[in-house]
Amino acid sequence: MSDPKDTKRIAVVGAGIAGAACAASLQQAGVQVTLFDKSRGVGGRMSTRRAAWAGEGGNECTVEFDHGAQAITARQPRFRALLARAEAAGAVARWQHRVHAEWPAAAVREAWVATPGMPALVRHLARDVPLRLAQAVQRLHRTAEGWQLVLAGGELAGPFDQVMLALPPAQAAVLLAGHHDHWADALAGVNMAPCWTLMAATDDVDWPWDAAEPGRGPLAWVARNDRKPGRSAPRGIATWVAQATPAWSAAHLEADPETVSAALRDALQALLPPRPAGAPPLAWHHVSVHRWRYAVPADRGSLDDRECWWDADQSLGVCGDFFNGGNVEAAWRSGDELADTVAAWLEQPHEAALAAAPLRRPTAVQAEAAEAA
Ligand SMILES: Cc1cc2nc3c(=O)[nH]c(=O)nc-3n(C[C@H](O)[C@H](O)[C@H](O)COP(=O)(O)OP(=O)(O)OC[C@H]3O[C@@H](n4cnc5c(N)ncnc54)[C@H](O)[C@@H]3O)c2cc1C
Repeated sequence: MSDPKDTKRIAVVGAGIAGAACAASLQQAGVQVTLFDKSRGVGGRMSTRRAAWAGEGGNECTVEFDHGAQAITARQPRFRALLARAEAAGAVARWQHRVHAEWPAAAVREAWVATPGMPALVRHLARDVPLRLAQAVQRLHRTAEGWQLVLAGGELAGPFDQVMLALPPAQAAVLLAGHHDHWADALAGVNMAPCWTLMAATDDVDWPWDAAEPGRGPLAWVARNDRKPGRSAPRGIATWVAQATPAWSAAHLEADPETVSAALRDALQALLPPRPAGAPPLAWHHVSVHRWRYAVPADRGSLDDRECWWDADQSLGVCGDFFNGGNVEAAWRSGDELADTVAAWLEQPHEAALAAAPLRRPTAVQAEAAEAA
C-alpha cells in the first residue's frame, strides 16, 4: 500500500523562514511540496538590499545591507542544532558584537547571522524544495479536486491537497477570508509595529562599536553592516543600518521618504564621533530608507497560545513569527511545528483526535520545561 504522504501535494505560501522551515520539513517527511512567494527571492523579512554609486574615477561601488532582521538568537535545542548544521554548510556564522547602550546594557553580545546576507539561512533551508518565485497568491479557490491558488494575472496553480500559509497576519487574513473566517478575524486583530530603516554608506569612521542601542531619540538600533561576519564594503567605506523605534516609525508612517531619510541620517550622525579638527565633513555616499509597514508583532490580539494552526477538515494550515514571539526563531519554530503536525496527521488520518488537537506537542513542551529548569 502506498504511503499517504507520497500522494499528497502541499502548497506552502510565503518563503520566509517560517514557510521554508515548513516546506523543508514536510519534504523530508516524504510529501510533495511547492513553495510560493511573491518576491523574486526567498527570505521575507530576512532580507538584503543592494546599493551602488559611482566612486573615485567613476568606478562603481556596490554594497549590501541587511535591512530587515539583524541577528538570530537561538534558545531551543532544535533550532541551535539547525544553526550548527547551517554553520557547517557556511550559511550562518557567529556574530560577537560590541553594543553601545546605556549602562548596564552595554556589552559584548553573541548572536548568529546568515552569511553572506540574511536570506542565506532561508536559501539553505529550502535548498531542495521546488520554488515558484514572483508568484503573488491573490486568492484561494476550493474545487472538488483540491485547492487552486489564484495568482496575480489570474493564472491558477494546483490542485493541492493542503495549503499552508506562512505569511504576515494581514496577508494571511486576506487569503483565509471566506474559507476560514474565524482565523481570518483573529489574524486581522494582530497589530504589527512598523519600522523605518535607514541604509547608509559613509566614509569610514573610527567607531569602536559594532552596534548601538541609543535608548533615546528616533533610533532604536544601529549596526555597522560591513563588520558583520561575511560582509564587506569597498576600502574606506562604512555601511550602516539604523532602525527607528516603533513609536517614531508609527508617528512618521506616512511621511515622505526624503523627510524620514534626513531625520534618521541626522540621528545617526549625532551618534558618531566628531570629525577631527580641519577634516572635511563626513561624506555620505549612499542614503536610502525602507518602510516596514508590518515589521514585528506588537499586540497578538485574540490569538490563542498555539504555535501554528492546522485544520484537517479545511486542509489549511497557518504558521508565522506572530504565533510565538515575533523573531526568526519563533517563525522557524512555528513552521517546523506545523510541518510535524501535518506529517503526523498524514501518517494517521483516521485518528480524528489529531486533527482537532492543540498543536503544542507534549514532547516540545517537555523539552522546553526541561531546558528552562
Ligand atoms: C526591521 C526588522 C528588524 C528585525 N530584526 C530582527 C532581529 O534582529 N532578530 C530576529 O530574530 N528577528 C528580527 N525581525 C523579525 C524577523 O525578521 C521575523 O520575525 C521573521 O523573519 C518572520 O518570518 P516569517 O517567515 O514568519 O515571515 P516573513 O519573513 O514576512 O515571510 C513571509 C513571506 O510571504 C511572502 N508573501 C506575502 N504575501 C504573499 C502572497 N500574497 N503571495 C505569495 N507570497 C507572499 C513575502 O514576500 C515573504 O517572503 C526583524 C524584522 C524587521 C522587519
